[in-house]
Amino acid sequence: MANYHPNAELLMQFAAGQLDNALGIMVACHIQQCPHCRNQVRTYERLGGELLETMWTKADDNIVVSEDLLSKTIARLGDSRSSSASAEDTGVDKNIPKPLRRFVPKNFDDLPWYGFSSNIQQYDLNFGDDNQYVAKFYKIKAGKELPEHTHKGNEFTLVMSGAFSDEAGSYHSGDFILANEQTQHSPRAHNDMDCICFAVMDAPLKLTGFWGALINPFLR
Ligand SMILES: [Zn+2]
Repeated sequence: MANYHPNAELLMQFAAGQLDNALGIMVACHIQQCPHCRNQVRTYERLGGELLETMWTKADDNIVVSEDLLSKTIARLGDSRSSSASAEDTGVDKNIPKPLRRFVPKNFDDLPWYGFSSNIQQYDLNFGDDNQYVAKFYKIKAGKELPEHTHKGNEFTLVMSGAFSDEAGSYHSGDFILANEQTQHSPRAHNDMDCICFAVMDAPLKLTGFWGALINPFLR
């Protein structure tokens, strides 16, 4: 069971189908493993449905607008569901959460990882219609530490395999972590296995300290 969760605002946006692909898929991955957030999302969906119903019955002059809004919202809810529900098991790694499987062609081990060091590698994810976010997998080798860095914008991380710790806590499979401008940390993978995370950023990482000047150009 996850210890770190998306906040209520994100879950509400997810329930309303308002999250862009990358972030919506990440939330879908989390709620698949988290009964608590799954229930929250169901509650928001129900509330949203009741709200729409009220708008529908109260609308008279604006009925055309309401009808349009209603159908758009229903279509969005359908989209967000299909991204989590229609993901089929295509024989890829069981550690890859279901909502991601149709975007990931191979097992973790067989992906074309790249990076400036064998300790930290990445794999770029492409969700097609998504310009707002950059989405990647990160793999930190067991027992290795990422150089200390801050974040220019928001970075959402979901742990998929293994575990890592930073100055603020210890994160395991299913944990959903938000880092932002105020976060300055050096995540370290636990010793027993490589840690693989799904990360969605609305701005790239910015390394600080000694490693910053050296490595920043590689993180674009
Ligand atoms: Zn949760």
